[in-house]
Parts: sequence; C-alpha cells; structure tokens
Amino acid sequence: MAIERTLSIVKPDGVQKNLIGEVYRRFEQAGLRIVAARMIQLGQAQAEAFYAVHRERPFYRDLVSYMISGPVVVQVLEGESAIERNREIMGATDPKKAAKGTIRADFAASIEENVVHGSDGPDTARNEIAFFFAQSDICPRRR
Ligand code: ATP
Ligand code: MG
Repeated sequence: MAIERTLSIVKPDGVQKNLIGEVYRRFEQAGLRIVAARMIQLGQAQAEAFYAVHRERPFYRDLVSYMISGPVVVQVLEGESAIERNREIMGATDPKKAAKGTIRADFAASIEENVVHGSDGPDTARNEIAFFFAQSDICPRRR
C-alpha cells in the first residue's frame, strides 16, 4: 500500500451528460484527492498520441473521433492505492460487465462511450499525468 497519483478523464459523453460533479463526488467520497484539474478540447493529434497504445486495435479510429467529439475534464487523483482504487470506482470497460454501483455500470452507454478514463498502472499513470500536466500544475495538499 502506498500513496499514488493517477490520471483520470471525464470523457466527452460524461461532460455532455453533466456528470462532472457526480464523478468528482465519487472520487472524493472514496478518499481520493483531486490535486490538479482542467477542461480541454482535445485535438486529433493529441487524442491519437494519448491512445497510441491502441493504434492497431480495430476501434482506434472511432475511439479518437469520440475523444475529440467534445470537451473532456482531466484530473490527477492522489491517495492510497489511487490507481487501483480509481479503476474500482470506474468499473469494467464494458458497462455490461461493470460491477453494480460503479460509474460505468451506472452511466456508460457502451463499451466505447464509457464516461471515464483511468490509468492502468504506475508507468502509464506517470506518463499520462505528464501528458496533460506540468509538475507546477499539481497542487500538493497541505491541509
Ligand atoms: P481507459 O483506458 O479509457 O481507462 P480501459 O483501460 O478500461 O479504459 P482500454 O482497453 O484501455 O480500456 O480501452 C481504452 C478505451 O477504448 C475504452 O475505455 C473505450 O472507450 C474504448 N474501447 C475499448 N475496447 C473497445 C471496444 N471493443 N470497442 C470500442 N471501443 C473500445
Ligand atoms: Mg486503458
């Protein structure tokens, strides 16, 4: 067990459905602290780069189109086992397989439009945080 940081995104469908507050409420209720946050409209090249690991997957082009279809909210979450904890709060990629009470079970429309993104391990967390935030954007909690 250790204090970790992870990258979270409220995806365009989550923003469109006015779920930003609901998603943040679940993070905060679980004890995760938001230590950096901003809303952005991703461009094509930026979305392609962010999801480069999925370049060869059949859903890649659709995934990039979806991620640029509207603004997203990106945040850094900090807390005990934050990477795994965030994945638990999100639920499985496919909402039909997501556990009851998770964000994706409650709000996702499909395996693609699934409301949130979360880093899947320590290396991806480090890289994905650096993709969106400079060190100086992150606000350590002092109280
Ligand atoms: P994320 O990386 O967004 O947190 P994840 O780790 O649960 O989600 P990945 O396998 O990394 O899932 O897929 C990245 C994203 O690509 C998914 O969140 C979803 O939006 C989309 N995706 C994944 N699998 C499919 C699929 N079979 N068909 C369509 N879109 C998919
Ligand atoms: Mg993933």
